[in-house]
Amino acid sequence: MSGSRRRLVYEGKAKILYEGPEPGTLIQYFKDDTTAFDATKKATLEGKGVLNNRISEYIMTQLNVIGVPTHFIKRLNMREQLIREVEIIPLEVVVRNVMAGSLAKRFGREEGEQLPRSIVEFYYKDDKLHDPMVSEEHILAFNWATPQDIDDVMSLAIRINDFLTGLFLGAGIRLVDFKIEFGRLWEGDMARIVLADEISPDSCRLWDIETGEKMDKDRFRRDLGNVTEAYQEVARRLGILPEAGNNERKGPVLVQT
Ligand code: UDP
Repeated sequence: MSGSRRRLVYEGKAKILYEGPEPGTLIQYFKDDTTAFDATKKATLEGKGVLNNRISEYIMTQLNVIGVPTHFIKRLNMREQLIREVEIIPLEVVVRNVMAGSLAKRFGREEGEQLPRSIVEFYYKDDKLHDPMVSEEHILAFNWATPQDIDDVMSLAIRINDFLTGLFLGAGIRLVDFKIEFGRLWEGDMARIVLADEISPDSCRLWDIETGEKMDKDRFRRDLGNVTEAYQEVARRLGILPEAGNNERKGPVLVQT
């Protein structure tokens, strides 16, 4: 079923949200488009959306199994998943295990150093402002989240990091850092904080454990080439691959309709 016949709710850089079949649901469509550096660099990577849909489905499903609440309900087809409609908290939550990216730049450090402890950072989601880094003080003062929300976000971020670190390690991949987003799921007049958006090589730094080779969006940002191939390798190692175009299936393959 094509998303184009549904009512569009929101179009972002890599995903589109459509109205869902029932109230309180949305359909999240994964595009092949990719952007970097505040969308000044753009490309279309054929098949990227299909891979991110599968990888994010796999991770969110596993997180649901260990009791981390997420917006994910089920994958509908190659490019779409059914999700719960949440009120997005306007923060990008970054968790870091290894020195890289903007952290390395900011403190003049080499990339690759294992951090003595994981670091959680908050950025205010606003492209026009280039997603400025913010502290809990700003979050509370500007009322983007309550102290309880911040507590919940922090503890979920740590649980997600611990789980993902082990999941990727089992696939021979070092989880360097990642970005996640959270939303409020309203149930009556009670709101629960749940993981939203996606978790994919677009939002994680993933390095091969042996060679250090990058298997994430940095391949696009830094013009390293073979971006989709790297995402495909992540999917293959996790034991999940899209339905079509793979003659070299190795791990277990989830067959769903
Ligand atoms: N990230 C993201 N979206 C953003 C900014 C960062 O998904 O708008 C991810 C990025 O892929 C990396 C982590 O968050 O896994 C930390 O990114 P960093 O702050 O180092 O920024 P970058 O160097 O990517 O600009």
